Amino acid sequence: MFENLSERLGGVFDRLTKQGALSADDVKIALREVRVALLEADVSLPVVRNFIKSVETKATGSAVTKSITPGQQVVKIVHDELIRVLAGEEDAGALKIDTPPAPILMVGLQGSGKTTTTAKLAKRLKEREGKRVLMASLDVNRPAAMEQLAILGTQIGVDTLPIVKGEDPVAIAKRAKTQASLGGYDVYMLDTAGRLHIDAELIQQAADVRDVVKPRETLLVVDGLTGQDAVNVATEFDDKIGVSGVVLTRMDGDGRGGAALSMRAITGKPIRFVGLGEKMDAIETFEAERVAGRILGMGDIVALVEKAQATLEVEQAERMMKRFQKGRFNMNDLKMQLEQMIKMGGMDSLVGMMPGMAKHAGKIKEAGFDDIMLRRQIALINSMTKKERANPDLMQASRKKRVAKGAGLEVSELNKLLKQQKQMADMMKKMGKMGKGGALRQAVK
Ligand code: GDP
Repeated sequence: MFENLSERLGGVFDRLTKQGALSADDVKIALREVRVALLEADVSLPVVRNFIKSVETKATGSAVTKSITPGQQVVKIVHDELIRVLAGEEDAGALKIDTPPAPILMVGLQGSGKTTTTAKLAKRLKEREGKRVLMASLDVNRPAAMEQLAILGTQIGVDTLPIVKGEDPVAIAKRAKTQASLGGYDVYMLDTAGRLHIDAELIQQAADVRDVVKPRETLLVVDGLTGQDAVNVATEFDDKIGVSGVVLTRMDGDGRGGAALSMRAITGKPIRFVGLGEKMDAIETFEAERVAGRILGMGDIVALVEKAQATLEVEQAERMMKRFQKGRFNMNDLKMQLEQMIKMGGMDSLVGMMPGMAKHAGKIKEAGFDDIMLRRQIALINSMTKKERANPDLMQASRKKRVAKGAGLEVSELNKLLKQQKQMADMMKKMGKMGKGGALRQAVK
């Protein structure tokens, strides 16, 4: 699935990732190609526009780390944006079937894969959730469609409602409901009639059935190969009948994949499943992350960038350590360190990252490094002037009173903080003599 789209985008990023530095113009040119690729995949124009704008804003302002190329950074941003636009549900595959027998209404155009999908989902419910499922075809105009469902039912070991000639769809739906209750079924799935185009009669029929059974889920099956048409069909069905989710079929084909990208943005309806072939197991729940990965086909770069971002934080910590080793440790350093500690999950993990620090761990704990303490100390530092932060020795009685009051704390707490800063400065100086830089990086690798 998505082969064309991912190949196109892949080509764009291949060129990008080989370059060392990337100018704003390069980003623009690359994004122009992304735009063409998306339009060729039949993603709708407003969705493409928003996508490009959003990537451009993020790419322009983002910090690029040493260990990755700007091109790789752009790939990551595009990847994240794809996930945002695809907007997967937390649990797309969880159908609402809590109160048995739960009705599921399947709607869609003829040839979309509705009957096949009904059977695939029935099989899934049976095998994965141990549900007893009853399927019924409401396609009274096409006896072949009713038989097709019965054949699939036999094939997957799921019961179908016996076919009674001359019944209308609402009557069949009622019979299915009764049969499901009497027969102790957990779920009954109604495969409504399809037409080649949406027409009033088709919609009316589906609406009548909906009103009789009050479905827990109304799943719209659309052909993923039809791009924007699929999105238009979804909009119309949702307006007229109300759907709870979309199943995109034929995503195994040499599809353009555009429907997936536009669907959520335009209809507001989540894609719940994707059909990936004719076989009864060829269905998957929709996961934005996986689909975004497939579109880009560059999972390794995304992982690389994530790792590089982690390294960026380590680089910052290293820079800080270098300052400490020179014995420079003022309130700004302390504040940065306190914040870093909170971010890194407390003092314990920080100690673990710094060789030679472990034996001081007890002392550091004694000095009162718990989380609430850390936040109070940050408040005190925030209350100081720039000058005072840079040179804590300035802190005399009247300044102390002002700073403590500003933070809403006692002078005694400020005294503790000042003492701590002195202790830390001393300790850092000692540590600086113990081992030279690079230790942190080693520890994280
Ligand atoms: P309906 O008219 O909407 O009920 O469509 P059918 O369920 O009869 O499907 C029409 C054709 O599409 C059948 O040959 C199916 O095997 C095929 N089909 C359905 N879903 C998929 C899919 O996800 N991928 C592929 N490749 N074929 C599918």
